[in-house]
Formats: sequence, C-alpha cells, structure tokens
Amino acid sequence: MSQILILGGGSAGIMVAARLRNELSMDEASITIVEPSDKHYYQAGFTLVALGLDEPEYLVRPMEKVIPAGCTFIKDEVSNIIPDSNYIETKGGKRLEYDHLILATGTKLSFSEVEGLTENLGKDGVHTFYTLEGAIALRKVIDEFEEGNFVVAQPPMPFKCPGAPIKLALMVDDLFRRKGIRNKANVTLTTALPSVFTREPYATKLNQLFESRNINVMPGFNPGKVDVENRVIKSWEGKEVPYDVGVVIPPNEGEPFYEDMPIVDASNFVKADKHRLVQEGFDNIYAIGDCANYPTSKTASGARKQAEVLANNLVAKLRGREPRHTYSGHII
Ligand SMILES: Cc1cc2nc3c(=O)[nH]c(=O)nc-3n(C[C@H](O)[C@H](O)[C@H](O)COP(=O)(O)OP(=O)(O)OC[C@H]3O[C@@H](n4cnc5c(N)ncnc54)[C@H](O)[C@@H]3O)c2cc1C
Repeated sequence: MSQILILGGGSAGIMVAARLRNELSMDEASITIVEPSDKHYYQAGFTLVALGLDEPEYLVRPMEKVIPAGCTFIKDEVSNIIPDSNYIETKGGKRLEYDHLILATGTKLSFSEVEGLTENLGKDGVHTFYTLEGAIALRKVIDEFEEGNFVVAQPPMPFKCPGAPIKLALMVDDLFRRKGIRNKANVTLTTALPSVFTREPYATKLNQLFESRNINVMPGFNPGKVDVENRVIKSWEGKEVPYDVGVVIPPNEGEPFYEDMPIVDASNFVKADKHRLVQEGFDNIYAIGDCANYPTSKTASGARKQAEVLANNLVAKLRGREPRHTYSGHII
C-alpha cells in the first residue's frame, strides 16, 4: 500500500485528496493531510464579505468536516522536508514517512514587506481584504464611506487571485454609484503592471471599462510604505497616492519553512514542472495550488484543474501505467 502525504488542507490539498480518495481503494493507498489550522477558509468569498454580499459564517468550516472520508487529518505544522529520505518533520515533533508527497501549502501574506502596514492595519483608513478579519473590518468602512480617496493597492506578481483587487475596485465603483456618492469618491487602482491587465482579449476590454467608469489606474506602482501621517501610499518607484481608505494587498511568498530547501525558488515557491506538476529534483514530490511557481494565476479554480491532472497521473503511476495527463495553465 502506498502512503500519500498531503501538506496543507486548503482548497488545493482538499481537492486533490478528494479526487485521489474517490479513485484509490483503502488497500491501494493511505492518504494523510497535515494542516495546522482547525478551520478551513473559502477565501474567494472574502471579496464578497467586504462588499456586504456574503457572510463570514458561510466561508469557514471546521477542518475535520472538509477532510474527505477515508483520509487521515493530522493537525500539525510541517517544519522540514527531507526529500532524500522520503519523510517530513512537524513542529509537534512527528516524523511522517511518505511514498508520494503533495505540497499544497498556499502562500504567506507578507504584510511586513510594506512599511507601516502591519501596525496600522484596520485603523486610520488602512485595510486589506486578503484575510477574513480584514474583509469584515473593510465591510464597515465601505458601508460608511461617503466621500474621499478610495485606493486599492496591489503588490507585485505573483499574488493570489490577481482578479480580486480589480473586482473590488469595480464593485466599489458600482456601489458608490448606486448610493449616489460616486461624484464625491475618487477611486484608484494601483498596479505593478503597465495597465489594469496585460493579456488579451481581456486587457483592452478591462482598460476601456476602467476608463469609462472613471476609475484611476496608477501603473508601475509597487507599494513600499503606508505613510499614515500624510495619508499617502508610497511606491518603491517614488510615486505617491493619497488615500482616505487605502486597501493594501500584501506581497505573497511561499511558506518560510521551505527556506534554503533546494525544492524552492528565491521567494520560497516550489519549483515544479508546469505541465506535469512534479517537483524538478524528485519525481515523487508534487506541487499544487498557490505554493507552486507555475506561471499562471494563483486561484482555487486553477488548483481545481491541477488537482484533476495530478490525481489522474498519480493513480496511473500507482497502477503501473504511464502518467500522461498535463496541465495547460488554464484556470477555468
Ligand atoms: C481575497 C481573495 C479572493 C479570492 N478570490 C478568488 C476567486 O474569486 N476565485 C478563485 O478561484 N480563487 C480566488 N482566490 C484564491 C484562492 O483562495 C486560492 O488560490 C486558493 O485558496 C489556493 O488554494 P491552496 O490550497 O493552494 O492555498 P490555501 O487555500 O491558502 O491553503 C494552504 C493551506 O496550507 C496550510 N499550510 C501552510 N503552511 C503549512 C505548513 N507548514 N504545514 C502544513 N500546512 C501548512 C495553510 O494553513 C492552509 O490551510 C482568492 C483569494 C483571496 C485571498
């Protein structure tokens, strides 16, 4: 019997576990998920919570309720991977062996990369919606907003769901119009990219939409500092944007425990083949979801596609067949 170990019980880890468990009998494989949190968060709903269109209680589930039947849940945090000897270590002192290791640890939100962000978050008009608490706090601020500068500041790529800040800016614009306060609101989206979106056919349409909606776009803007005294967000490039409400999305990195491991790049994202989803140095280690360095959007919808490919290939391998499925990079 093969031992499959999945690190991370987020969207990607749960989806791949479910697919594998559906296919593999209990005699063929054991499937174990190691995850430190006892709660599972459906992050795609955070944007809607901030806009008052979804409720926090619909987005949080006890972890044991989302672990697929027939899989084992170990509540612990992975602290080390020893790929040459096929085992991992946890903060709780466990040593867990594997035949196949699936990395699904998501991204870390690096608030400290933007000076002034951590200490001012949730007060003085400084907000985020990339955490559930942040989305709940922002909801009240959006609800009470009457006039002034509303800024959505995006970090450099890669960060998870690059569509979410665009969606927030457009929906805030729409909300302010419906409330009759749009003429008193100055809505701005900053982006490290040259425009709202750079890939056709969406780029032209989105750029036109932002223009027609009178939403300012500040391109080439990497947020470096939130200056609460002067109420401006400063970029690494020396640009500034004034805010009354500044919604800042922190830069994303891979989890810090990977640091110095040969399986990750300089930002701690797992290096893996973008089509086969197999780690570059070890063919029994796989990466799925936001933790991987794939050059495609970090989204749950992308992880769903990857889960299908990875599960099909792993089942084929375990049954002595050639793993033929490949990931195209598409997210829908
Ligand atoms: C505001 C917002 C809006 C979004 N909107 C959308 C959307 O509309 N559509 C969409 O498809 N996607 C959206 N996303 C992105 C989507 O939520 C992520 O792409 C998705 O959650 C990725 O799944 P994942 O399992 O890779 O990472 P996660 O779901 O983040 O899960 C990673 C898991 O790994 C665990 N972990 C971390 N470190 C360790 C460790 N050392 N040991 C063990 N476990 C560990 C974490 O606790 C976590 O449970 C949005 C995200 C945000 C924040």
